[in-house]
Amino acid sequence: MASAVPTFAVPPGFLGIGRRERDAAISIAGIPLDIGTTNRSGARFGPQAIRQASRMLVDGAHPTAWIDVSELMLSDIGDFRIALGDIPASLKAIEEQAAAVDHLVALGGDHSITLALLRALARRKGPLALVHFDAHVDTWPDNFGQAYAHGSVFYHAIEERLVDPRRMIQIGIRSPVQRDVFDWTVAQGVTIVAAEEVHEHGPKAVAERVRSIVGEAPCYLSFDIDALDPAFAPGTGTPEIGGLASWQAQSILRRLTDLRFLGMDVVEVAPAYDVAEITSLAAATMVFEYLVLAALSRDRNTVQSKTAPSID
Ligand code: MN
Ligand code: MN
Repeated sequence: MASAVPTFAVPPGFLGIGRRERDAAISIAGIPLDIGTTNRSGARFGPQAIRQASRMLVDGAHPTAWIDVSELMLSDIGDFRIALGDIPASLKAIEEQAAAVDHLVALGGDHSITLALLRALARRKGPLALVHFDAHVDTWPDNFGQAYAHGSVFYHAIEERLVDPRRMIQIGIRSPVQRDVFDWTVAQGVTIVAAEEVHEHGPKAVAERVRSIVGEAPCYLSFDIDALDPAFAPGTGTPEIGGLASWQAQSILRRLTDLRFLGMDVVEVAPAYDVAEITSLAAATMVFEYLVLAALSRDRNTVQSKTAPSID
């Protein structure tokens, strides 16, 4: 049955949900940090734009999985506190706040936030498998002399053993990169799927590759919106042409129904460069797809539905 509240009047939380003080299976938080960007900043305004765009997804069930995510035990806990102008202090603050949440979906913010989120999660769950959508490998040892920024997040995540690089797959890669950075990444065991391989082989083959690499390991999804082509996601700081269409990323995600997801972020949405909300809608939709995956995942007992106990 349709909601009585029209799409444009849905309250400002993600999918119109508010803060749930108890029993949240998944908590959604904004992280408005963008001082780790190396080109255009503005992802600090990403969380609110993604929430705004998510209104389009409120009314009705997911059209292939038939899960109504509005009936999952979700909570939008607002935005995390950051330390203005200080990346290491911000990462520390983000890690502390993330550690208090069992299953977190983070709305960025630039990609540097993911290091703090992985630190918080790996401390509890051990090294994680990682599904990483991006135009960039983000395994530079530093960005222009700055150790912690949005292009070094997975260098540190691998060095700190927060992720298992042999169970890590990057999808959509296509930016210019120093050969030694690329070779270091491959030498760690990371699987790199170039955007062109997605175009050539299609989402089904890529999803099969993801499943073969991740297997049954506890898994994290990090979705940099610049994995999408600028035609589909212009509102971002470091766009690269030749990227994924929104439908390709969505189709890959929809096929990952048997992974054991423990958390997710969507990062690098910079609304000032967006057109007609297409970037923030794409980001909101990737979160929507993730929530369905979380509901279907092997840790099914972490998500409970009020109306569909059969998924437990
Ligand atoms: Mn990127
Ligand atoms: Mn990135």
